[in-house]
Amino acid sequence: MKNIAVLTSGGDAPGMNAAIRAVVRSGINSGLRVFGIKRGYNGLIQGDIQEMKMSSVSDIIQRGGTILRTARSEEFKTPEGLAKAVNVAKVFNIDGIVVIGGDGSFAGAQALTNSGIACIGVPGTIDNDLAYTDYTIGFDTAVNNALDAINKIRDTSASHERVSIIEVMGRHCGDIALHAGIAGGAESIIVPEIEFSLDSICRMLIQSKNRGKLHSIILLAEGAGDGIKLEEQIRGMVDIEVRTTILGYIQRGGNATAVDRLLASRMGAKAVELLVAGKEGRVVGIRDNKIFDMEIHEALAMKKVFNKELFELSDVLTSNLSD
Ligand code: ATP
Repeated sequence: MKNIAVLTSGGDAPGMNAAIRAVVRSGINSGLRVFGIKRGYNGLIQGDIQEMKMSSVSDIIQRGGTILRTARSEEFKTPEGLAKAVNVAKVFNIDGIVVIGGDGSFAGAQALTNSGIACIGVPGTIDNDLAYTDYTIGFDTAVNNALDAINKIRDTSASHERVSIIEVMGRHCGDIALHAGIAGGAESIIVPEIEFSLDSICRMLIQSKNRGKLHSIILLAEGAGDGIKLEEQIRGMVDIEVRTTILGYIQRGGNATAVDRLLASRMGAKAVELLVAGKEGRVVGIRDNKIFDMEIHEALAMKKVFNKELFELSDVLTSNLSD
């Protein structure tokens, strides 16, 4: 292994820059030349590739987004696109690639590995929707961004005595809603993994109202329903003021938290270590605070298990059976 490259792919996530920095610096310190591929697999197909030096990754550890840019590439999914990508990697003498992204990007890394380009996957996605790892890079920052918004909305919702629905990201995975909801003391958390009952939410709101508490936070993961629709449904059942805030892309931006920077640094360095050791077709993860690696196809076959215990804790901490 002499020349390696790094790319970011799929949705951007805060902490990707810290991972790029770790790959570049630990690669150079291991005696490798390191190349940066722009715009994910599109840049690989187009040869948009530049050598990176220690200084190329100065002053980026704190920045959200990705300096390499990111993209979704339909062409790469075709046999012709894959062949082009492999050919470009060979022209640049790239022996191995660190792919930072989610499950789709990992499927691409597996395809490249099968075609002779050694790839290692690093999980960069705010959703925390990869089953094999406890955490993905970007999740902690997204949770903290959501939490910051909850704190601010709580101030105004308490002052005006209204119910606030806050819709956060998570199409299939409710982890952002669950973690930010518990940390923010949300009265109700709605996630795609657990069926929710409009009746019991309304009952909770009526009970609170009867006790004189008119403000509540309902945290809704986007995959579990539509905030505006839920607002209308609640209004139809309870005589209370309800407002919805959809956080959207604000959750993905901003400086990465210390947790994400540390995770990204450890995982990026591990990916390089694996390539240097001649490993390929593997992903890096974290379990019980230990960095580990496993086969990409095994990781992709795993089914994410929702943390029901944590969900039940949120119920215990917010249900109001008595005063
Ligand atoms: P996020 O979790 O943020 O959505 P992701 O990596 O899952 O990230 P995708 O859009 O699913 O995002 O995948 C990123 C890119 O990976 C795709 O645009 C495509 O180029 C490549 N890719 C996805 N699935 C495959 C596949 N089955 N085979 C080869 N390449 C794939």
